[in-house]
Amino acid sequence: MPDDLSTAPQSHKRPHGSGPEVPASMRAWVLGNPGEMKMIDKPVPTPGRAEVLVRVDAVAICATDLEILEYGTPALVEGGAPFNKDFTPGHEYMGTVAALGPGVDQFAVGDRVTVEVHAGCGQCKRCRMGMYTSCHNYGQNYGDHDKGHRANGFTTNGGFAEYVVNNVNTMIRVPDDMSDEEATLVVTAGTSMYGLTELGGLVAGESVVVIGPGPIGLLAVAVAKSLGASPVILVGTRDSRNEIGRKLGADYIINPREEDAVARVKELTGKGADYVIDCAGNETTVNQSVHMTNRGGRICLAAFPKNKVNFDLGALAVNNIYLYGIRGEGRSATHRAMAFMADRRFDAGLVHSHTFPMDELPTALKYAAERIDDAIKVVVSMHKSTSGGDK
Ligand SMILES: [Zn+2]
Ligand SMILES: [Zn+2]
Repeated sequence: MPDDLSTAPQSHKRPHGSGPEVPASMRAWVLGNPGEMKMIDKPVPTPGRAEVLVRVDAVAICATDLEILEYGTPALVEGGAPFNKDFTPGHEYMGTVAALGPGVDQFAVGDRVTVEVHAGCGQCKRCRMGMYTSCHNYGQNYGDHDKGHRANGFTTNGGFAEYVVNNVNTMIRVPDDMSDEEATLVVTAGTSMYGLTELGGLVAGESVVVIGPGPIGLLAVAVAKSLGASPVILVGTRDSRNEIGRKLGADYIINPREEDAVARVKELTGKGADYVIDCAGNETTVNQSVHMTNRGGRICLAAFPKNKVNFDLGALAVNNIYLYGIRGEGRSATHRAMAFMADRRFDAGLVHSHTFPMDELPTALKYAAERIDDAIKVVVSMHKSTSGGDK
């Protein structure tokens, strides 16, 4: 049985197949009350069958982490809110394999790896279809409800700790010449890749609009460009981020504060875009998406709108436009994203803005939440000891 929550039986034995340096306990950040992170000592978890122990080297902060810290959702721990359960968030991490669970021969101690979030249960209808990020047994990994589902940082312990257990299906090898910080971005790039996969996959010569230059949007520009999309158009209100989008491959930038985004997309594409990826997910951008997509085109909603959204549903039907929602980075999209990153098709590191030591996680979270100093992707490094948010 995977030893993932602090309430699980605690083993102080050294895990099977471990390197000599694995300690019995570790430092880990845990979620207390809403918004409160505390550092505690926890037992180092033991990997089970098809699992490895990863020594975390770096972990990126995601907007979803900030959601979880404040509101709990979409984390689900022991069937409820994740507060005061010694739950460790953090899902965009990379590290070094420190120990192998029984039967694991796909990885070796010392391998550098980065991870994707979801290891579905492997037994529900969606997992059997390969849609493990939409597992029907999400959060069912405790007590009598243990279906073996894991989503590290959401339903099982994540990466704001020295060690974490991962299913082998959630691990991707990191090339030697890729920095820790860049390697943490494979989940983000994988989410963008998954969006394009669900929209139809190969996009050479088709027009792609990305709305919202956050980390997923910026890397969606990069992935779309790498897949041959033409033109790639980025819509965003923050000029500093739009400029990064240009470096990542956007052929055109539209600032909707300065011009009508729908009219400009139609002008650039003739009849509207083939694919639109909405990474903002508010009423304005959803309606822009509907009206800038050409007949028979496709829209991917890659953001979780907080509130109900009023939008022009009729225009979807009349124009035979398809609308897709995506959850996470499914269908092994992280592997495809890593192929591009390893091949230097784009520099994902352009979206990384700050690095803090692990001890300064609260400061790092503040930088990410308040976008201090134009923060985009803030990374916590386990090996960085000096203070300051330098890159
Ligand atoms: Zn994330
Ligand atoms: Zn499942």
